[in-house]
Amino acid sequence: MAYRYWCGECGFKTPWLSEAQGERQQIEHYAKRHPGIPPGGHVEVNRRNPNGGDGCLRMATMAVLLLLAAASAHRWRLLQTDPRRLRAPGTLPVPRCFGRGA
Ligand SMILES: [Zn+2]
Repeated sequence: MAYRYWCGECGFKTPWLSEAQGERQQIEHYAKRHPGIPPGGHVEVNRRNPNGGDGCLRMATMAVLLLLAAASAHRWRLLQTDPRRLRAPGTLPVPRCFGRGA
């Protein structure tokens, strides 16, 4: 989870940080910019890792998707080229009228 603290007195907002880091920056901002005012504003919460873990997760997801795509493509090609699957008994078109003469 990442937290972004918005100042209640001006347009200041912290970067996406952990809850403790964001809170500290918010308090420091208030001490510097709005002395005497108790820290307010609001907190924005994002369900992601503030330490760049999101990119890692996205990479892992991409890799898994690629693997799945490759696996299904491989299976599809097997299905296409396996003669036993293409010409299973009963699926061959039988030319019933062939050679009977007119
Ligand atoms: Zn402010």
